[in-house]
Amino acid sequence: MATAAGNADASVLREGASEEKGEHARLASFVGAMAIGDLVKSTLGPKGMDKILQSVQRGRNVTVTNDGATILKSIYVDNPAAKVLVDISKAQDDEVGDGTTSVVVFASELLRQAEQLVNQHVHPMTIIQGFREACEAAKAALERAASDNAGDEARFRQDLTNIAKTTLSSKILTNDKEHFAKLAVDAVLRLKGSGDLEMIQIIQKPGGSLKDSFLDEGFILDKRFGVGQPKRIENAKILIANTPMDTDKIKIYGARVRVDSMTKVAEIEQAEREKMKRKCEKIIGYGINCFINRQLIYNYPEQIFTEAGVAAIEHADFDGIERLALVTGGDICSTFDNPEDVQLGSCDLIEEVMIGEDRLIRFSGVAKGEACTIVLRGASEHILGEAERSLHDALCVLTSTVKDSRVIYGGGCSEMIMSKAVEELAAKTPGKRSLAMECFAKALRAIPTIICDNGGLDSSELVSQMRAAHAAGKKNTGINILTGEVGDMQQCGVVECFRVKQQVLLSATEAAEMIIRVDDIIKCTPRQR
Ligand code: ADP
Repeated sequence: MATAAGNADASVLREGASEEKGEHARLASFVGAMAIGDLVKSTLGPKGMDKILQSVQRGRNVTVTNDGATILKSIYVDNPAAKVLVDISKAQDDEVGDGTTSVVVFASELLRQAEQLVNQHVHPMTIIQGFREACEAAKAALERAASDNAGDEARFRQDLTNIAKTTLSSKILTNDKEHFAKLAVDAVLRLKGSGDLEMIQIIQKPGGSLKDSFLDEGFILDKRFGVGQPKRIENAKILIANTPMDTDKIKIYGARVRVDSMTKVAEIEQAEREKMKRKCEKIIGYGINCFINRQLIYNYPEQIFTEAGVAAIEHADFDGIERLALVTGGDICSTFDNPEDVQLGSCDLIEEVMIGEDRLIRFSGVAKGEACTIVLRGASEHILGEAERSLHDALCVLTSTVKDSRVIYGGGCSEMIMSKAVEELAAKTPGKRSLAMECFAKALRAIPTIICDNGGLDSSELVSQMRAAHAAGKKNTGINILTGEVGDMQQCGVVECFRVKQQVLLSATEAAEMIIRVDDIIKCTPRQR
């Protein structure tokens, strides 16, 4: 006979829902999170490998990348804990733009350590408490180790250049990192602290080599002037619009007009042309010398603009139009009845320029003087795509550094400083929490270990040398992956942004804590009506 106690195990979940409990749930979470860490860990550091991402959909897009966030964004994961790690990588990318691989690798190392502690029967809550205290100690050590050169312009610029080089050294642009670091620093310093990355446009132009990439002030639009129109406009007054400029709208909507004679067709066409003429006259009436439209401009309106001496540029892509409006200080409009409400864009000069084999239009001396364009050149679209992602990371890190100018040393140096501080705390802490703290320190040391392993170096030897150097008070010691030796990171110029490192530490600890807390995974069925 069934008893109440016997029934206590019976599931209260609706049919179709499933549940994993206790140790099983925790194990599934740990395994999923570690698998994500293992997936991206081979890309960590300057000698990290790249991954090819191939889309299974039609067209089979191929992306070659080393960027943790890009890899994780494009994979499908079913494991809930793995999803948490994918999300922290995305959040890291949005927040500071770099450290996307480090945050996932560190969180998964914390969970690897936590799994061992759970196996030794340390309660998850004790582990969480230990990790929290360790994180506080690591954060304080990181703050103490940071230096700030914002007061000295030359040194701050050097810091920024070093940060850009460190970020780029693990990416496709590593061979030309001096060149790209200069481009990125020049672009970010133009922003004068506003940090508005929208002002920096990156365009890809296949052809040439990566070294031919350059920075141009102002804005470049990948379009051409219409036939017979001026190719050079000084003191430009620009109307930016998103409006239909065709006379045969009826066709577009698939409507039919029945007429009983050809003269009526001609009348309708004439009426449409008159309407378009009036629209063009209204536009010209703004006193502009350049009209840029998001949509196509057909022959008839183009002819009217040419006769009035107004250059007309059609079919500019939406991103281009938005950015153009931003940098020239104009509005995007679609009706033309109230000229007084519309702000025109302005710039000193619009001219046609040649980049490689292509003609493009450059707007210089724009209203927002800080705006600039980086033109990327390279042999193929895949190279250009990865180059843009890498440069974007460098630009994000640099704008973060302009906002918070503190810097710390990379190459595993800051991880060793944090790990030492946490070990010291563990030595002073009685009870099982200290075990968790020691594990936290070990997870921190996993970062330099992986960077060495990826470079084919003897990680145990080098990390123990670093540990000894830090214990002896040489606080700037890290691995110089290029020489394969332990060295002074200040001299090697391996510098990182403080905010990125701090964010890696805090986000990874929080994510690990969240996953350790799990003791139940309930897969819900879709809601039934
Ligand atoms: P993430 O996406 O997390 O930034 P990366 O693949 O860019 O990952 O690797 C960053 C790590 O590589 C950082 O820990 C940084 O300190 C380290 N690193 C960068 N340049 C060097 C170098 N020259 N020598 C040693 N380590 C380096």
